[in-house]
Amino acid sequence: MTSLFPPEHLEARTRYRAFMEEHVYPNETAIGREDDDAATLLEDLRGRARAAGLWAPHVPPEAGGTGLGFLYYACLNEEIGRSAFAQLVFGCQAPDAGNAEILHLFGTDEQKDRFLRPLVAGEVRSFFSMTEPEVSGSDPTLLRTRAVRDGDEWVIDGHKWFSSGAEGAAFAVLFAVTDPDAEPHRRGTMILVPADTPGVEVVRPIPVMGHTGRGWSTHCEVTYAGVRVPLANTLGGEGEAFAIAQKRLGPGRIHHAMRWLGQMQRAFELMCRYANERETFGGPLADKQTVQNWVADSAAEIQACRLLTMDAARKIDEGSEARVEVSLLKFYAARVLGDVIDRAIQVHGARGLTDETPLAAMAAMARGARIYDGPDEVHRMVVARRILRSFRDGDGWAFG
Ligand SMILES: Cc1cc2nc3c(=O)[nH]c(=O)nc-3n(C[C@H](O)[C@H](O)[C@H](O)COP(=O)(O)OP(=O)(O)OC[C@H]3O[C@@H](n4cnc5c(N)ncnc54)[C@H](O)[C@@H]3O)c2cc1C
Repeated sequence: MTSLFPPEHLEARTRYRAFMEEHVYPNETAIGREDDDAATLLEDLRGRARAAGLWAPHVPPEAGGTGLGFLYYACLNEEIGRSAFAQLVFGCQAPDAGNAEILHLFGTDEQKDRFLRPLVAGEVRSFFSMTEPEVSGSDPTLLRTRAVRDGDEWVIDGHKWFSSGAEGAAFAVLFAVTDPDAEPHRRGTMILVPADTPGVEVVRPIPVMGHTGRGWSTHCEVTYAGVRVPLANTLGGEGEAFAIAQKRLGPGRIHHAMRWLGQMQRAFELMCRYANERETFGGPLADKQTVQNWVADSAAEIQACRLLTMDAARKIDEGSEARVEVSLLKFYAARVLGDVIDRAIQVHGARGLTDETPLAAMAAMARGARIYDGPDEVHRMVVARRILRSFRDGDGWAFG
């Protein structure tokens, strides 16, 4: 059967599939324990992924990776995304992937040497520290964390939470207000903050839907009290945090959606297999029309998500920010992800809630998708506003 992806991308995907089957799926339960043995096992698998030439497919070779663009990465993620930990195995995990992207685009030579190189090499991890508990994360003009110039240093004070992966990370990409009097979208600056700087405290990993996590899988509360870093740690220009956040969150969002494609397809396959196997009321579940509706709806929605992902990826590869396409994909795919996993759980009955299948863990992780990197409502707002503005300007809307 012909595929939507070019043959060379499919060839690479086959190699990822083989690696997943040999090394990732058989170890999922052990990795999921998140103990010392799991950490050792992960390091071993990361070494094997490097040796197999499968390392860091999200960034190009000049940034230390093996990437060939967004469409290529979308294709690979139909495999990588199927297992929650696989992104870590292949060195392309959030939030490091997005942070690497902005360091590559905006970092000075010194910053690239100090922060980007070890990050892409997998020697260290990072975190993205933007959201704050006291104000709405949907509207970053409200953020309060302050950085004040003192000689050739920034002095930072602030309170963040949901800094994913902060436990054990080497540095933060921090959003701080540096000019409160500027127009709202020029107030913030991105600053690279080594985690061992005095005054940085990872207060606690916040339990999320009953899961506290460890290291990479945490979502942490972090405080910054009188933290001093050199002005040379400014990422991009002063006042450019919003522009950089857009650059970071665009790719970050589409990376998430790509992984969700893998998660949806895995849930879909589990649903279809079980529907054919499980008998009730004189026949397999597959004969019941409700189940058939779930299969048909899921197939249509998954394919729609794949096409939306490919459309956005192609446009980004061609140099567009694809703001509307990425937002469309983000809110639509987040809902489909939750719906498909939920249907698969329902088809499995009580078994769907146990750890005998990956579905329960997938469902817990999927819920956050409708909130992180901007809640559904904000992405709908972005899409609608841009389309309506285009109509007001007399241009209508070209789907492209
Ligand atoms: C698992 C997870 C990981 C995360 N990782 C990170 C991270 O690494 N770094 C980081 O900085 N942040 C991270 N976040 C935070 C995330 O980006 C924010 O939660 C998100 O931006 C929403 O901000 P908020 O939680 O303050 O919700 P609020 O902004 O307070 O919004 C609350 C609700 O209001 C509604 N709403 C908001 N605006 C509108 C609107 N215009 N119209 C209609 N309804 C609206 C939405 O339903 C929204 O869910 C993470 C969150 C989760 C769940």
